[in-house]
Amino acid sequence: MKKVFLNEFSAFELKNMIQDEEIDSAITVFGSCESHGWHLPLGPDLFVPTEIARQAALRLSKTVVVPGVPFGTSLHYNHYPLSVTLRFETTIALAEDIFTSLIEHGIRRIVILNGHDGNIPALEIAARKVKDRFKDAVLVFVPAWWNITGARLADMFDVWNGLGHGGEGETSITMAVRPELVDVSLAERQVPEDVMALGSSPLSSGTSRRSRGRGRRATRRRRRWRRGSGCSGASPILSSIWFRIWRDEIGTMTTGKGERDLF
Ligand SMILES: [Zn+2]
Repeated sequence: MKKVFLNEFSAFELKNMIQDEEIDSAITVFGSCESHGWHLPLGPDLFVPTEIARQAALRLSKTVVVPGVPFGTSLHYNHYPLSVTLRFETTIALAEDIFTSLIEHGIRRIVILNGHDGNIPALEIAARKVKDRFKDAVLVFVPAWWNITGARLADMFDVWNGLGHGGEGETSITMAVRPELVDVSLAERQVPEDVMALGSSPLSSGTSRRSRGRGRRATRRRRRWRRGSGCSGASPILSSIWFRIWRDEIGTMTTGKGERDLF
């Protein structure tokens, strides 16, 4: 099997690959460690883009996948059990150092495959800072891979084109990547006003009486909803379509033909 992950190569192999110009591109992956509802593990934002990157790199030449960053900026999910969040400044510094290391070792084209919405501003700042220092490098930022895929599959989902956090799309694709970690029977339907009220969790600080009241009303509503109704459209078949779309997308980006968010 062809190796694609950077940390699976030896320094000796990489030295030869660089000398023979067999490597010039890298896909970097940024995830999160945060709640995705009761039915999913904390890690889809890492697991899914890592698998997309792996499948894309298998089809490409001269491309390695940098091991994904398992944490992201998840301030908005901090009140859920054991969410681990990085400050914006940390994510910026982490990404900047990863991009800089790659470029200083001869990588000229970097795809930034982000798996988590909270990372978007930090990754853009990091990419722009690095581009300012290395004007010849190409950085392709994919801030929200789910938007591109969701737009193509819009009619296949029941809710929000499948794009809700932990919703049909994300549940489907996690079922394909790590099926043993998904329990759809625990999925609950939620709508935006409830998501806003979740800030009233007892674990979060500084909540007002009004927001606590909103939270209690939201909790009562959620209890009335039928379990599993939020992910009725989730299926592993859909996820194989997502992967096909993404293999093609990344292929276009690393060959320099894409026009998406190039720095
Ligand atoms: Zn996610």
